[in-house]
Amino acid sequence: MSSETLFTKIISGEIPSEKVYEDDEFYAFQDINPAAPVHVLLVPKKVIPAIADATAEDEGLLGRFILTANKIAKELGIAEAGFRYVINNGEQGGQTVAHLHLHILGGRSLEWPPG
Ligand code: 5GP
Repeated sequence: MSSETLFTKIISGEIPSEKVYEDDEFYAFQDINPAAPVHVLLVPKKVIPAIADATAEDEGLLGRFILTANKIAKELGIAEAGFRYVINNGEQGGQTVAHLHLHILGGRSLEWPPG
């Protein structure tokens, strides 16, 4: 899919971001409005609007997505203490950007259930 999103503009550098990680398939950067001391967004360069839109074709990508998040969590120093991954889906799920992204949250104790 070739449609532009806020995150394709961040990936291309048209909108500046604080990059944390990049490879051929993924881009990670600091969330502009952090909800925790560590709050990084991991985005596939392929535009999948939401996690519910993923198809069997994305099976490998989704596996690498989580493994890449694990690598980033380790590099950010939150792996040992614990952290949380969040994927918001759709309006009631709290999704505001229609380009699949994983929130990597950590650096403090996180409450449950979410608000
Ligand atoms: P969602 O609510 O869709 O799950 O998450 C979107 C996230 O993108 C939010 O946490 C929000 O703070 C972040 N965000 C929105 N606009 C920008 C931006 O221009 N730059 C960065 N770095 N983060 C953004």
